Amino acid sequence: VSHHDARATPRRFVALTVVVARLAGLASRLLRRGHGRTLPGVVAERLQPGIAATLANQLPHGVVLITGTNGKTSTTRLVAAGLTAAGMSVVTNSSGSNLRQGVVSALVTGCNLRGRVRGDVGVFEVDEATLPLISTTIGPRLIVVLNLFRDQLDRFQELDEVAAVIRRGIEATDASVLLNADDPLVSHLVRSRGARTVEFFGIEESAGLGSRERPTEGESDRCPRCGRQMDYSHMFYAQLGHYSCPAGDYARPAPTVMLTRVASGGGGAVRFVVTHGDQRHVAASNIPGTYNLYNSLAAIATCHQLGVPVARAATAMASCPPAFGRSELIDVGGRTVTLVLVKNPAGYGQVIRTFLAGDPRSSVLLALNDRPADGRDVSWIWDAPLEELSGRSGAVVASGTRARELALRLRYAGVDADVRSTPSSAVDALLGRTAVGGRCYALATYTAMLELRRVLREHGTRERVRRVAA
Ligand SMILES: [Zn+2]
Repeated sequence: VSHHDARATPRRFVALTVVVARLAGLASRLLRRGHGRTLPGVVAERLQPGIAATLANQLPHGVVLITGTNGKTSTTRLVAAGLTAAGMSVVTNSSGSNLRQGVVSALVTGCNLRGRVRGDVGVFEVDEATLPLISTTIGPRLIVVLNLFRDQLDRFQELDEVAAVIRRGIEATDASVLLNADDPLVSHLVRSRGARTVEFFGIEESAGLGSRERPTEGESDRCPRCGRQMDYSHMFYAQLGHYSCPAGDYARPAPTVMLTRVASGGGGAVRFVVTHGDQRHVAASNIPGTYNLYNSLAAIATCHQLGVPVARAATAMASCPPAFGRSELIDVGGRTVTLVLVKNPAGYGQVIRTFLAGDPRSSVLLALNDRPADGRDVSWIWDAPLEELSGRSGAVVASGTRARELALRLRYAGVDADVRSTPSSAVDALLGRTAVGGRCYALATYTAMLELRRVLREHGTRERVRRVAA
């Protein structure tokens, strides 16, 4: 065996593994087994443990992992858009495939048939609980943590536990870290930097967002060092704000990439100013809401860490369409339905304030499912600020597999809901209370969103057929 052959064999084996794994994924999709997106990763790792690191190492600009409770998918898409605009070819995972197999599958399907990854950089959204496993497997260059909210209690008992898991994921690597300065649970994740680069992004008071009042979502706002309730000079939502411990042992770190001003643009777009050092750049987001501004800001800071000029990243992101279901406009017979994914109290608070507060006459459909992808435990709705829906003149429809519990929660909030058990009767009730040319809203957990989307599309098609026939 010549020297040349000894080196060539592993590469051939990588190529073979990639081919077999992708055929398995293809077969699964053809057979409609539903694992087509993650099966290539499972098969590839079975055939060749360590293939994920082999493939990730081929990416000249390395791998970025993005985690946190809310906004992973949106931020990942924005980062991919920013890096693509800077001329990089991006390997990324599809929405929801954020466990280990999903990430490995994205690498495998991003390969050519000779086992080489066709890309310059990997950008992957990663489930919080999976971060240690993926970061040890892949060795990222940058880990981004967006926020930590109470979510799906059947997976995670305590936010402190989630924070500990993410910290393990960070400490398992020498990756740089980019953290949300405004979330005390996140900003505290790196206790000692060592040789590691740690940067922060955050929203400044000058942006004119938030207030001095303390919102009511009941998230953690205790000092991560001593457990005292922290003082806030400014609040955005949940525990996000400008905080300091009264004992003086912890305070919000100074961000390097800051959102310093917000100005509304036309057509629902929001223009904002990002300040980095002495440079100021105007950026824009297609989706309103402070939570979306955090995603844009995090994405701009991420691109900047990878050497992309802030101005270029910001321009690319302004034209990036929203992630599937995160905020989707569906036209149904001349009515505009805004469909939004909500999966925890903080998300509900943000969506109500962003979309509903300024439009009290519109009707709204809330859908709560308790399937595994939604989270089996739905008790978090008792922490959602549904009181803010009382006093609306539009109808409130409750739907989903847990419609009755949702209606009970709404009754405690002073809201009489029209309970509809099936998605199609719920959509009928919503559209029945919305005039042609009018606007209404549907807020849903993950699987409920998929059902509503299908029903709304079918309604829209029927209406179009009817209009054409008339
Ligand atoms: Zn303290």
